[in-house]
Amino acid sequence: MTTHGSARHDAPHARETLLERDALRIAIGVLAGSPPPDEAIARVAAAALAGTDADLAVVVERGAEGILQVRASAGQEAIMPGTRVAALPGGALERALEGRMAPAAPVPGQPELTEAAVPILVDGRTAAALVVSGPRLADGTADRLRAFGQLLAVVLIRVEDRRRLSALASTDPLTGLGNRRHFDERFHVAVEQAQRHHQPLSLALLDVDHFKRINDQYGHQRGDDALAEVGRRLAATCRVGESVARIGGEEFAWILPLTSGEGAEAAARRARIAVREAPFGHLGRLTISIGISELSLASDAADLVQRADRALYRAKAAGRDRIARDFGEEVVPR
Ligand code: GH3
Ligand code: MG
Ligand code: MG
Repeated sequence: MTTHGSARHDAPHARETLLERDALRIAIGVLAGSPPPDEAIARVAAAALAGTDADLAVVVERGAEGILQVRASAGQEAIMPGTRVAALPGGALERALEGRMAPAAPVPGQPELTEAAVPILVDGRTAAALVVSGPRLADGTADRLRAFGQLLAVVLIRVEDRRRLSALASTDPLTGLGNRRHFDERFHVAVEQAQRHHQPLSLALLDVDHFKRINDQYGHQRGDDALAEVGRRLAATCRVGESVARIGGEEFAWILPLTSGEGAEAAARRARIAVREAPFGHLGRLTISIGISELSLASDAADLVQRADRALYRAKAAGRDRIARDFGEEVVPR
């Protein structure tokens, strides 16, 4: 034992009371909506440490592609959140990640150390594990951990629900692209980042030409189908790091980080071709107009949008199916 006094060894009853009290306090905090998830998880790890003979408690999360990462840790030799870890073959972590309880047992290859773990289930899959270790873990350690594992599951389920909700709230159901809210969020982050690092950033606003005619001629449903197809073609044109959103009826916004006005113009040309080159079923061909602005010529985020909007207006006025670019003093249809 490195972190606890020996008194606790002699007073299992006191430890149990502490464990229950901690678990209850943490459960109330978690269910009441505070503290924030990371803190809640860290607190559960700390309580698991306090409630057992362990000198290290770790919450390991299984992320995308099975990557194992420390989500929280407590103890004198606590591990930084985000640290990648591997599950030792035959060890407690491996067993817990298989969905099974891992009772206290020696760590493979380290007989002087014992470990125990419990799986943490989220949506029916083992998303994480709570692992504790110490020189001499008591026999019932895994059972003690069970309640903490369930608490962690509550927190992780809440994190997952929030993520889904937030994704839903920023997705346009028709095209599956981001919506205006998504654009607003991304755009401000992108502008801030570009300003901070003195990097180029461009914005393209795209609007389908004469779209009202499509609706009038073929009906709203066909119009919707065409918009979904425009969305797909734009998404396919979009490169990694860029993002395209549907910000209005038949209007799209395309954020181009690390891209000069020149580069944005080339990207816009690709988008324009992607929309106009193939017919939209029997609706025939559609065209788009695009307005481009670049951050180096704008005073702030709002000005960048205004400049792209003005350029789009000029592209429309110049006959549609074209690109116009803001050059600061003047807007030039291309
Ligand atoms: P312009 O070339 O000047 O952009 O002409 P336009 O007809 O595209 O522009 P206007 O702004 O006059 O009309 C846009 C039309 O887009 C109005 C509406 O009928 C249609 N629209 C907007 N949102 C949707 C939508 O979600 N679904 C469908 N089917 N049509 C939509
Ligand atoms: Mg239009
Ligand atoms: Mg419009």
